[in-house]
Amino acid sequence: MKYSIPPPEDEKINVSSSDYGFLLLKLALFLVVAVLTLNIALRLTGSTLATALISPQQENKIFTPLVTKYFAQQNDAEIQEINNELQRIAERLSANLAHNNSIKFTVHYKPDSQIDAGATLGGHILINKGLLNELQTENEIATVLAHEISHSLNRDPLANVGGSLLSQIALLMILGNNPSAKLGLTSAQMEQQAYNRSIEERADAFAVKLIADTYGHVGGVIKTYEFLDKTEKSHRLDTTPSFLRSHPEIPKRIELIILEIKKHGWPDSGALIQKSPIFQNLPDTITAEPLQTKASKDASNNE
Ligand SMILES: [Zn+2]
Repeated sequence: MKYSIPPPEDEKINVSSSDYGFLLLKLALFLVVAVLTLNIALRLTGSTLATALISPQQENKIFTPLVTKYFAQQNDAEIQEINNELQRIAERLSANLAHNNSIKFTVHYKPDSQIDAGATLGGHILINKGLLNELQTENEIATVLAHEISHSLNRDPLANVGGSLLSQIALLMILGNNPSAKLGLTSAQMEQQAYNRSIEERADAFAVKLIADTYGHVGGVIKTYEFLDKTEKSHRLDTTPSFLRSHPEIPKRIELIILEIKKHGWPDSGALIQKSPIFQNLPDTITAEPLQTKASKDASNNE
């Protein structure tokens, strides 16, 4: 025999719309926390898997033909001279790395007027015409290259690709195509940006140490970041708070670099090396040999 106790008067099922709203809010909050946690786990797994399964040599072998193909049209004598000078600076820096590393860095000049530089897969580092034009000394160019060398050395580009791929695919599979998926993915992206900020700060700290070890002082480092800050401010139209952006605000990065300099007692000025005359009148576009021939020839050189 079953007994049922009638609910007291005030507990009868009579949910107001504000209760529903509160319930929905709690559900949304739960979803955000769950997706954030899942995203961190997925991204870390993806990053770890990519860097564990692909050795630096394999990464270089896989991606060098692609990067070489991308730059194939630029391999005329003038560009080659610019690349050689950039490579010389990068090798001067890497000679001062604390331990022997198995990453091979290759620096490429990119005839793009945008003020930018970056590290990509396979140890390839790109520096744009726009940035190279503005940097005044070898020390400033070296500051940018040292930052990108940190990304290559830590295999940040591959870790980023592996982590993003796994988290995006898995989250899409789990969340599917529904409205809550959008909320989940947005929070995952915000979390990803916080992760990027810590990578940037690590690269800055690495760069200033490498500059001190290479040149015996850190002259030119702060000037480089101040220039980048000025450029960013003149290009940034929105007022997105720094915690939502992938790069921390540059003044905050400068503060952290100054702390590093003080902590290690590196001289903050010293003899600056003139920028090579090769970097005057940088070329824009180059006519070239057929892309296919050049790319396959260069790819075979790297094997
Ligand atoms: Zn960076």
